[in-house]
Amino acid sequence: MPDVNREIKIVIYTLNDCPYCTLAKDLLKKKGASFEERNISDSEELEKEMSERTGKNTLPQIFIDEKHVGGFDDLNALDKKGELDRLLGIKGEKQLEKRTRLLIIGSGPAGLTSAIYAARADLEPLVLSGRQPGGQLTTTTEVENYPGFVGGVMGPELMDIMRKQAERFGAAFLDKELTDVDVTERPFKVTAEDTKISADCIIIASGASAQFIGLPAEKELLGHGVSTCATCDAFFFRGRDVAVVGGGDSALEEAMFLTKFATRVYLIHRRDKLRASKIMQDKAFKNEKITFVWDSLIEDIMGNKTDGVKSIKVKNIKSGALSELSCQGVFVAIGHKPNTAPWAGKIELDKAGYIVSSGTKTSVEGIFCAGDVQDHVYRQAITAAGSGCMAALDAEKYLESLAD
Ligand code: NAP
Repeated sequence: MPDVNREIKIVIYTLNDCPYCTLAKDLLKKKGASFEERNISDSEELEKEMSERTGKNTLPQIFIDEKHVGGFDDLNALDKKGELDRLLGIKGEKQLEKRTRLLIIGSGPAGLTSAIYAARADLEPLVLSGRQPGGQLTTTTEVENYPGFVGGVMGPELMDIMRKQAERFGAAFLDKELTDVDVTERPFKVTAEDTKISADCIIIASGASAQFIGLPAEKELLGHGVSTCATCDAFFFRGRDVAVVGGGDSALEEAMFLTKFATRVYLIHRRDKLRASKIMQDKAFKNEKITFVWDSLIEDIMGNKTDGVKSIKVKNIKSGALSELSCQGVFVAIGHKPNTAPWAGKIELDKAGYIVSSGTKTSVEGIFCAGDVQDHVYRQAITAAGSGCMAALDAEKYLESLAD
């Protein structure tokens, strides 16, 4: 455990069931930093205090020695730059080196299933779990269709169980992000922030990340009324009107979760048919708090950082008509893009950035892939887990062939 200066005062404002709050607390705990948690779930006083100190309506919010650091992403960014250690009074460590037979990149259902199988086969895998360990499922609510859970399971809990199962068989975890990779020589060379790893074999299971519409106001007002995570931020929209963009399962899941807090949820979709599964559509159509706005795109988001979102400009793409819709929150749920940037030019990717694979094999021998990073069709937790299992079995065979 690093040596942390105990004089440093850290305050973190949190909310019950807020995934990014857990990630922020975990990062601070990993650093050995103690902190005061101010949970605003049942305290209007604390909510008011946080809002006055930060002007933000997204959680968590972190203060180090009275200095406002921001949310989890800001804390993470500081850590990546090495500045968090300085703020916490941790003395710099020299660059680390690791050697492994099998490196698994990613810690969603695909990476963790690979880790369970590989660890059970005594391959002692190292899992590069990234800066959001657990992946996309850590920002969802209930997963109802993962086999084995009659009454459903919360996404973060499922990931926690899988990680513990992999650890039980000896998988090691490094909660850092892949920053560079060299596949021109063997063993492969991977850089993860301050750590250099050499690996005989790699499984890429780095998943996909939320997409944005691309409006300047969207980034500007992120955390001030614009969000990509209803489970994190819905609480702030009690008694308000909000808009959700998208027509897939994610958009409907966000919309339904938001109806627990908001007065009205506008579901803005660019077509007149939803992409979401029938069961989700049936639930959403029955929910009287959801109003569907068909064939429409958001053209602009009006508001400012002080007062948040005031309204959105909506364009009907069939008629061209423009209208202004009053709402105080905008939740973007328009799908994901694969996390493959470090692999561009190193292994074959398709036009959308997905890894081109044959089974689990990539274009480079000894590098396998699993989950959403190579699948733009099924994209389910269970299909990701299944392909993670396949990749581990293929990696095991490959490593055996090296020993021959
Ligand atoms: P998705 O299925 O790709 O849906 C994305 C939606 O956003 C589509 O309706 C798309 O419209 C719309 N969209 C894309 N780009 C847009 C843009 N620039 N502007 C406006 N709208 C845009 O993504 P997802 O909903 O995140 O789901 C991903 C996968 O996870 C799916 O396989 C889904 O089944 C799964 N999932 C499952 C659950 C569950 O079972 N509980 C929950 C969440 C997600 P078009 O329809 O016109 O293309």
